[in-house]
Amino acid sequence: MPDTTQLSDQSIPERAVKKAEAFKEPPPPKRVMSIHAHPDDQEFTVAGTLAKWARAGSAIVTVCITSGDAGSNEKTDPDMAKHKLALIREEEQRNACRVLGVQHVEFLHYPDGVLQPTLELRRDLTRVIRKYKPAVVVCGDPTVRFYGNSYMNHPDHRAAADVALDAVFPSAGTRFIFPELIAEGFEPHEVKKIFIHGSEKGETYIDISTVLDIKIAALKEHKSQLGDWDPSKMIREWAKDEGKERGLEAAEAFRVMILKEDEEEKQE
Ligand SMILES: [Zn+2]
Repeated sequence: MPDTTQLSDQSIPERAVKKAEAFKEPPPPKRVMSIHAHPDDQEFTVAGTLAKWARAGSAIVTVCITSGDAGSNEKTDPDMAKHKLALIREEEQRNACRVLGVQHVEFLHYPDGVLQPTLELRRDLTRVIRKYKPAVVVCGDPTVRFYGNSYMNHPDHRAAADVALDAVFPSAGTRFIFPELIAEGFEPHEVKKIFIHGSEKGETYIDISTVLDIKIAALKEHKSQLGDWDPSKMIREWAKDEGKERGLEAAEAFRVMILKEDEEEKQE
């Protein structure tokens, strides 16, 4: 009879190592693009990861498709002009990005609340992807319609995520899609990975315990939307909840799509 005791003794640590490898936090990408529908979406969802990556040297650009000019019934004065609100919210988004360490913010100026997954939007996102050439794109999950039984995902969030994914693949990397962009000087660019937040299949965890305060500080820059409400408690609870699965004090979870192996990352 083979000595099974010895076999299992060896395979357990090996399996543990493999498991630990699978759970290893991905290294900070060199260039990142974070795409969202509204000012503040980024701060509620992925700001911890961006703050951590920015501090590790990643170059990050935020793309905000609308300027949040629909505001909210609770926090927005009904006499507020939409164009004025857009300016206020763009400024708040810039301030939040400054807190996070994000270098650039691009606004595409689509109207808030009625976003559609159009080819026009796909072309606009393809243009910014080709302009900044990110290795990683961060966006939402267009397939999630319901979160629990009290929050229906905003249609703008679904449209933004849907078009972000379509712009990454196949538009950004394919020369003959949107040839007008080539005429504008934007050569094809292949994104390597997509980090999708808010996904039910999130299996990649970023430990944000050292940057949780920065995430909260960035969110607080959206003063026109928060009013007197302090979001700290809720954000801390969310981060704790996300991290629980991996024994992390605070985390953000992502479904990661690997479209192209990163040669530099493999050599490290
Ligand atoms: Zn939103």
